[in-house]
Amino acid sequence: MNILPSNVQKLMQLLQRIPGLGPKSAARVAMFLLTSPKGYTKELGEVIANLKEEIVYCKMCFNIASSTPCEICDSQERDESIICVVEDPLDVLAFENGTDFKGKYHVLGGVISPVNGIGPEDLTIAQLINRLEGGKVKEIIIATNPNIEGEATAMYIKQEILNLSSQALKVGKRDLKITRLARGLPSGADLEYADKTTLKKSFEGRTNF
Ligand SMILES: [Zn+2]
Repeated sequence: MNILPSNVQKLMQLLQRIPGLGPKSAARVAMFLLTSPKGYTKELGEVIANLKEEIVYCKMCFNIASSTPCEICDSQERDESIICVVEDPLDVLAFENGTDFKGKYHVLGGVISPVNGIGPEDLTIAQLINRLEGGKVKEIIIATNPNIEGEATAMYIKQEILNLSSQALKVGKRDLKITRLARGLPSGADLEYADKTTLKKSFEGRTNF
């Protein structure tokens, strides 16, 4: 017999679907919310309820933002000749907090993963290639995670860039560099969890790819 009121049970069930929250942590979060001031739970509820409405995907870099183009794409202070290609918005956050990078980003929306049914067409790779036309971009930093799927995605992107016609993009001749983060990051690691020093070092030591 479950002695908890049905709305508390429901809350726990919903919380358990959050990555990293098992039944015990979900119960703890639920208890924390139950004993929190009303103002806090009301505000939290409102933020969650409106989350999707107030978020857009930037039409340039595909990062989550409150407007499109996002602040970074729109900024004149940022170097549009360097694009750092990352898997998801949390990686942008990691770079912004952990490095001195002042270029622009491109968020792929994941990695190629046949096991999970994710192909190149499910990611923003074609849009990335479009951004290279026009010849303003001088360096592409492929900063996918150093695991099997991240490496395979990096290879795929590199090949797509090399496939571009020489008029659109003179790789080599017109110095478009393709780089990859240095091997300071532990293999199989997740960028967003890398400590700042490691990320910064691996970013500064990036090599031709
Ligand atoms: Zn953007």
